[in-house]
Amino acid sequence: PAETMEELVSLCKRRGFIFPGSDIYGGLQGTYDYGPLGVELKNNLKAAWWRAMVYERDDMEGLDASILTHRLVLFYSGHEATFSDPLVDNRVSKKRYRLDHLLKEQKPEVLAALSQAMGLHENNNLAALVSRLLAEPEKAALAMNTCRVIDPADGAPGDWTPPRPFNMMFKTQIGPVADEDSYGYLRPETAQGIFVNFKNVLDATARRLPFGVAQIGKAFRNEITPRNFIFRVREFEQMEIEYFVKPGTDEEWHERWLETRLKWWEAQGIPREQIRVLDVPKEDLSHYSKRTFDLMYNYPTLGFEEIEGIANRSDYDLGSHTRGQAELGIQARVLENHDSTAKLAVQDPETKQWFVPFVIEPSAGVDRGVLAVLAEAYNKEKLENGEERIVLKLKPHLAPIKVAVIPLAKNKEEITSYARRLKAELQALGFGRVLYEDTGNIGKAYRRHDEVGTPFCITVDYDTIGKSQDGSTTLQDTVTVRDRDTMQQERVPVKELAQYLQERLRR
Ligand code: ATP
Repeated sequence: PAETMEELVSLCKRRGFIFPGSDIYGGLQGTYDYGPLGVELKNNLKAAWWRAMVYERDDMEGLDASILTHRLVLFYSGHEATFSDPLVDNRVSKKRYRLDHLLKEQKPEVLAALSQAMGLHENNNLAALVSRLLAEPEKAALAMNTCRVIDPADGAPGDWTPPRPFNMMFKTQIGPVADEDSYGYLRPETAQGIFVNFKNVLDATARRLPFGVAQIGKAFRNEITPRNFIFRVREFEQMEIEYFVKPGTDEEWHERWLETRLKWWEAQGIPREQIRVLDVPKEDLSHYSKRTFDLMYNYPTLGFEEIEGIANRSDYDLGSHTRGQAELGIQARVLENHDSTAKLAVQDPETKQWFVPFVIEPSAGVDRGVLAVLAEAYNKEKLENGEERIVLKLKPHLAPIKVAVIPLAKNKEEITSYARRLKAELQALGFGRVLYEDTGNIGKAYRRHDEVGTPFCITVDYDTIGKSQDGSTTLQDTVTVRDRDTMQQERVPVKELAQYLQERLRR
């Protein structure tokens, strides 16, 4: 795996996986653009998720809801009131921090003193400290200043403002008239689109519990400090499932989904020992969660950080958005809903009682997934001749380019037209992108394709077209196939190529 984030950032820029957003105008913080290879890798990862989570199961439907969201959806979901991060400013450096991120950068002595000043008994409970600081902002500012909380930017003690909650949703005007009610939001998670469509999906499919709805799409959060490349950005993609179950079976389904998701990441090339499962402590849980497992991947430079959260959201969401709340025996604490027009509940086939299903939500970040897959695949190898090569050992189904077809002589029309024909034939097989590659010499082409993870390079040469130097035609209509990982080359008859590649690209 990669040792540092820098080597990944550098590879991504150099080879066209990922570029900073709005780059030529100095960049727009918290945004990134996926380049020619990045878009392929990302699409492949999303397709692998959809295949495993939707097509290969019998209990799942798909959905693609809109990004622009009615303010009432995010009012009743609890996001308007609680989807915020704690913000604090340093009056000296004019820098702004997410309070918990700032505290993570402090020495243990400072945290202990701060905890004591705020009247806490434990001095290593960051979540408790953050909520205490937010609860008493004036006292918090005083304590942070006397305990000499330093600004990580310059290492000097800051002059801190009282911390305050900062709502992370992007609010936007909808329509040409800017009156009080004409705003909406860019969704901060894809999940809400699934909840508000619960009845639509049920009516259209006649599903019975348990079943799930899967969705992949963009989400937007106005992160206070976007950082660490594509790990924390303001515009990102999520792959989310809302899996609806009968109350009482939720805990069992929660464990099952944990197992299913770990297996899936393994199939994307991320071994279990690189992921730690965090059973999120009660005081850190989101407003909707009964229990959450965070999958923490061991990112280069960052260490173990969240790649996916698997939450038991109880009956909070459907219970929040349903009409007729009073008759449904909702267990979670929800706002009284006066606006919903749909009953988001199901009927017990035996007792005929209506009830609100519980929800298990595996929510994975596409961008954090791409980063993990790249980090895990990245290898620096010492070769026998003393040289070093960088090779991305991506699972073949994720590789941006599956096969590169290389004509050995660029000026020989018979060879180039043979190679172009072969490229078109292989492309038509439908296993993904096949590239006609006639730049640089063959050695350079191999190096480049190692670096971007192309599993196979195929060369078309004089032997292929039946013009061997020794005059023999025994190698006519055969090509050389080079394997990315072993660097071994094999002569393969063109008519066996389809089967040869299909077998190896599917492993
Ligand atoms: P964090 O604690 O790192 O801010 P979170 O707990 O707020 O993340 P969730 O609300 O659980 O994240 O979102 C589900 C998934 O969406 C995360 O596991 C992550 O993969 C992805 N995600 C969330 N925020 C971001 C972001 N700012 N940039 C990239 N991916 C994100």
